[in-house]
Amino acid sequence: MRFSGLRVLKEGLTGNRGWQAHWRDAMPKSDYDVVIIGGGGHGLSTAYYLAKEHGITNVAVLEKGYLGGGNVGRNTTIVRANYFLPGNSEFYSHSLKLWEGLEEDLNYNVMHSQRGQIVLFHSDGQRDAAARRGNAMRNQGDDAELLSVAELKRMVPYLDYEQARFPIYGGLLQRRAGTARHDAVAWGYARGASDRGVDLIQNCEVTGIDIENGRVRGVQTTRGAIRARKLAIVVAGRSSQVAAMAGMRLPIESHVLQAFVTEGLKPCIDHVISFGMGHFYISQSDKGGLVFGGDLDMYASYAARGNLPLAEHVMEAGMTLMPMIGNASVLRSWGGIMDMSPDGSPIIDHAGIDGLYLNCGWCYGGFKAVPGSGHAMAHLIATERPHPAATGFRLDRFRTGSGLMDEEGTGTQHNLH
Ligand SMILES: Cc1cc2nc3c(=O)[nH]c(=O)nc-3n(C[C@H](O)[C@H](O)[C@H](O)COP(=O)(O)OP(=O)(O)OC[C@H]3O[C@@H](n4cnc5c(N)ncnc54)[C@H](O)[C@@H]3O)c2cc1C
Repeated sequence: MRFSGLRVLKEGLTGNRGWQAHWRDAMPKSDYDVVIIGGGGHGLSTAYYLAKEHGITNVAVLEKGYLGGGNVGRNTTIVRANYFLPGNSEFYSHSLKLWEGLEEDLNYNVMHSQRGQIVLFHSDGQRDAAARRGNAMRNQGDDAELLSVAELKRMVPYLDYEQARFPIYGGLLQRRAGTARHDAVAWGYARGASDRGVDLIQNCEVTGIDIENGRVRGVQTTRGAIRARKLAIVVAGRSSQVAAMAGMRLPIESHVLQAFVTEGLKPCIDHVISFGMGHFYISQSDKGGLVFGGDLDMYASYAARGNLPLAEHVMEAGMTLMPMIGNASVLRSWGGIMDMSPDGSPIIDHAGIDGLYLNCGWCYGGFKAVPGSGHAMAHLIATERPHPAATGFRLDRFRTGSGLMDEEGTGTQHNLH
């Protein structure tokens, strides 16, 4: 079933009786060429690109809950390509280009909105760092503009320029950055993969990984054993737990990240705004809610829920940046489990066991990576070679210390990235 304006018109005139389910509710088979554990953004996009780019369709995605019920449906939807270090910058640049063609590719409205992201700076030193980052982004072929305070005042007049705790010195703007409707991204990839023959199996938790003579043979699940020639672990915040089923100890810690949304308001915030000094960032959804979040809880946990101290911290940061936000009522808040790597950069690699592949360590920035990650992961599984845009995401950098990508310059402490 293809979506088009004509189709919407026809359905509207005929009682909306012709719409079909977006994907097949598949029953698990006993055997697959590739099994992907995890029906989040990265697992679904991996399945999609395996089928579309490599013709590998005897594939199952096993999801313990419902598709898109994990972090892909819990994030604050920011999409950008403003990384500084080689390794990261070419990957996120590649991912943003995929975003720009995604709706046509999937024939699905993911509401990708390139409304621009402004990262504020608050000192001369931060301005230098922002200028260097902007130059790195432009060298990579992406856009970046350094904004003065006068330019900022024209674009975002509602920030507190007079009495904020951290005075605003300017901002780094990426116009091609923006947002997308997060669960539509999961649904779009699910539909595209299912249409190409991939089995999407919900309520199917992987409980064990079968390995014989150093080679993956399949998985044990709550819906029975499934054999697989190749197995991909793509479970975000649960990466350490699932990898442990294969006897692996990953350099990943799981931390909670919270977000908040207000009641719907008339359009007032046109961009994504990031306020690093206060650990606060905000955008306005197409429904009108102000969507905002802050920092990690700094305490390793598998609880996908928030807590009051962090809520208070985020509200304070919002109020100091834009006091007008105090007039809005918060509608709800939630948490997700982040797979924090020691250098803040991800892993897309062989796991060191024949037929086993790893995709994890996306920290709190993996939504924007969904197209690039699936594309690179599918390439790795199909060809056994890393995708040219993802050669730096090796697992062994944490053992050897060579090739670490410490994007934030915060050292090797998981909760600081
Ligand atoms: C509050 C918040 C704000 C964020 N904001 C942004 C942002 O603005 N921009 C950005 O780029 N990123 C953001 N992120 C990060 C981003 O959401 C994640 O990095 C990304 O979604 C993780 O990849 P995923 O979509 O595949 O994860 P998930 O959707 O979590 O997918 C993993 C899936 O694996 C399943 N699973 C786990 N264990 C098993 C098992 N044993 N068997 C079967 N299935 C299993 C889970 O149920 C889950 O559905 C944010 C995250 C949060 C929580």
